[in-house]
Amino acid sequence: MAEPELVDVVVVGLGVGGEEVAERLAEAGLSVVGVERDLVGGECPYWGCIPSKMMIRAANALAEARRVDGLAGTAQVQPDWAPVAKRIREEATDTWDDTVAAERFIGKGGRLVRGSGRLDGPRRVRVGDQVFEARHGVVLGTGTRPSVPPIDGLADTPYWTNHQAIEVEELPESLLVLGGGAIGLELAQVFARFGVRVTVVEALDRVLAIEEPEASEVAAAALRADGVEIHTGVRAERVEHDGTRFTLRGGGAEFTADRLLVVTGRKAHLTELGLDTIGLDANQRYLPVDDRLHVTDHVWAVGDLTGEGAFTHIAMYQAGIVIADILATARQAKAGADASGTSSVVGGAMGASSSLAASGSSGSAGTVPRADYRALPRVTFTDPEIGAVGLTEQQARERGINVQVGFTKLGSSTRGWIHRVGDDGFIKLVADADQGVLIGATSVGPAGGEVLSALVVAVHAAVPLSQLRHMIYAYPTFHRAIETALGDLS
Ligand SMILES: Cc1cc2nc3c(=O)[nH]c(=O)nc-3n(C[C@H](O)[C@H](O)[C@H](O)COP(=O)(O)OP(=O)(O)OC[C@H]3O[C@@H](n4cnc5c(N)ncnc54)[C@H](O)[C@@H]3O)c2cc1C
Repeated sequence: MAEPELVDVVVVGLGVGGEEVAERLAEAGLSVVGVERDLVGGECPYWGCIPSKMMIRAANALAEARRVDGLAGTAQVQPDWAPVAKRIREEATDTWDDTVAAERFIGKGGRLVRGSGRLDGPRRVRVGDQVFEARHGVVLGTGTRPSVPPIDGLADTPYWTNHQAIEVEELPESLLVLGGGAIGLELAQVFARFGVRVTVVEALDRVLAIEEPEASEVAAAALRADGVEIHTGVRAERVEHDGTRFTLRGGGAEFTADRLLVVTGRKAHLTELGLDTIGLDANQRYLPVDDRLHVTDHVWAVGDLTGEGAFTHIAMYQAGIVIADILATARQAKAGADASGTSSVVGGAMGASSSLAASGSSGSAGTVPRADYRALPRVTFTDPEIGAVGLTEQQARERGINVQVGFTKLGSSTRGWIHRVGDDGFIKLVADADQGVLIGATSVGPAGGEVLSALVVAVHAAVPLSQLRHMIYAYPTFHRAIETALGDLS
């Protein structure tokens, strides 16, 4: 068996969260091994946030051009997917090549090891024949993969996941989207706006079921206006592919299309991580962590894997805490070693003393921030955008909170009225009447995700309602509707 190689930290999975942790710790002077089996950067830059938002930007440009009629003359729109595919290939993903990201990590002093990493006992990670032992600990950032439901026949068909949908160069004539969550709706609207006949099939009784029912209604209406067929309450039972077309059966109905996109959620693959070698149960949906992202002693996890929300901003937020925690741990270890005159034990390859002291990103363990998800923002980038933070009305009621709700439609605001076509949306506020603060909010509209920022501050900082009511909202903005919704709280 190979002798373990001693390093400071091993990061397994260099997606958004792992890459941030690995880069920043390497930059701070620790010896960091980053293990990645696919592309450095993970899902977000290659098959997630960035290319999908490029697609949405293009689709929204088409939709805006179609709104010229009646507002500013006439416009003829001829959609063409080629510039979108080219931009994703050339600007976003370098044709799915991670050289730039890999070199950035190496340039910061990190060591990139290509392959699948798994735990191999406390503080140890095995990658093929190589074994690394981490002085300070191991960070798991292995993300999630599409969760494909066990529908009869599905596994034998050439269905798409988000990977094929993002990589597509030529659009199909028709597309079935299985799953009416955020990713399904975003992609369904994009493809519909480029002329694809899109059908969304959702098992639950409404699309975007984790958000407020009013948000589901606006989203469904917006997609239908773009020509998308939406079928809710339909549980898919069987999928067939005859070599050309897909047929999906469920709820007594049959749907056919050239392509089938499966976007029914994401799943962490814990069984591959060797968790049993450190006494942890791998048969869980996600890896539970505490508020400093500890899985257990000397093991941290970041990102989708933790089940705290599958968002890049969660992965980055958690990464910040892990970095602070590990730097504090490293400082303490160094201080202990200095005091006992054994500093070489900690120094090793990290050249650490000077850079750790200078990095200033964290203080003692006592000052390491704790994760707090009360004001977790989420944006579904459909048009209109659906932004939400904190609790929905139903979640708040289920917790026994004395709830007040305020609601206003964007179309009845001055800005919405001026905007006219494309002004669908609303502000919904959920307040804790006893505490006098907002605990949740939804902002739907042309800039719903941007308007959300004010509401995130309000929930995060528990700004008293009395203060929110007595601040000045610029006229005529979309965010001014927040003031109207505050006036409606009852
Ligand atoms: C279509 C789509 C659109 C999205 N849009 C948004 C958006 O607009 N905003 C937003 O906030 N979020 C969005 N997301 C979610 C976002 O992409 C994820 O939340 C984010 O990528 C999670 O980062 P992560 O670090 O947890 O994992 P990932 O990005 O999944 O990276 C995990 C990495 O670990 C590697 N890995 C796994 N196992 C091993 C192993 N054993 N050894 C070595 N390497 C391993 C994988 O190859 C991968 O590179 C979107 C996702 C999708 C699919």
